[in-house]
Amino acid sequence: MSFRHKHLLGIAGLSAEEIVEILDLSESFLEISERPIKKVPTLRGKTIINLFLEPSTRTRTSFEIAGKRLSADTVNISGSTSAAQKGETLLDTARNLQAMAPDILVMRHPASGAPHFLANRIEAAVVNAGDGTHEHPTQGLLDCATIRKHKGRFAGLTVTICGDIAHSRVARSDALAFSKLGATVRLAAPATLMPLGIEALANGSPGSIEVHHRIEPAIEGTDVVMMLRIQKERMGTGLFPNAREYSRYFGLNRKKLELAKPDAIVMHPGPINRGVEMDPDVADGPRSVILEQVTYGVAVRMAVLYLLAGGISEEGKA
Ligand code: ASP
Repeated sequence: MSFRHKHLLGIAGLSAEEIVEILDLSESFLEISERPIKKVPTLRGKTIINLFLEPSTRTRTSFEIAGKRLSADTVNISGSTSAAQKGETLLDTARNLQAMAPDILVMRHPASGAPHFLANRIEAAVVNAGDGTHEHPTQGLLDCATIRKHKGRFAGLTVTICGDIAHSRVARSDALAFSKLGATVRLAAPATLMPLGIEALANGSPGSIEVHHRIEPAIEGTDVVMMLRIQKERMGTGLFPNAREYSRYFGLNRKKLELAKPDAIVMHPGPINRGVEMDPDVADGPRSVILEQVTYGVAVRMAVLYLLAGGISEEGKA
């Protein structure tokens, strides 16, 4: 095993080899979720705290399921039940949780950089489950796993990511991961939702990032179309006219999808705003692998928890 990190804070800190190592490990964990008894003793005796200070359905549930399938003791704290509501600082919350000796703290926070701040101040391994507009590394990894399953490779592949690139931590983690693995990443968004200089995320990677301000040329001949939700909770007003106009120009419908390769797959990190970034017949159509992403989410998170907690194999060996 070449994985030598104490925390998982972002895709930016991972090499292509480490990403591939996590993907390979995820494949072996995928099988556990298909068994009648979905539990192995790998992380028995380890404690995982999921601290989610922003809404989440998929990520929080799949981290909890991942921990439980590995026999770790998992505890969930969400925004509405945490003492952050009573004015406690993040550092005080984390120090108090640390006093209960968890092995891993999985955290989601509205502020970019919050997991990095805590990683330097507490003993537990920290996993970033989404920090503001910055990164969502396990989403990046599960998206890689899903693409690899369908396309078998990244070199020579074109992946289009379309939507609110400016406020999407998924777009950043995905663009970093896909370009590190050698893909050409096309980002498509209205100019107001596209950060200046985002192409530089691919610096030093074998792949590249291209910027488009119309969806059609970004989809033309692509292998993968990833659509993103407009992150209204992270933006002021005036960045796009209205949902109907956005959908007309940047939403994915069957007609626009015809521009992609005939075997192109359609992805979305969820939650989908049906009829805004994606028509329901595309979201539920034959090219959609959106629910497979969710299935891979559990396997990838099992792999990450295993690597960070230093688990033992089913046979009891390290
Ligand atoms: N669930 C993803 C995230 O937490 C995407 C989204 O919310 O649109 O970033």
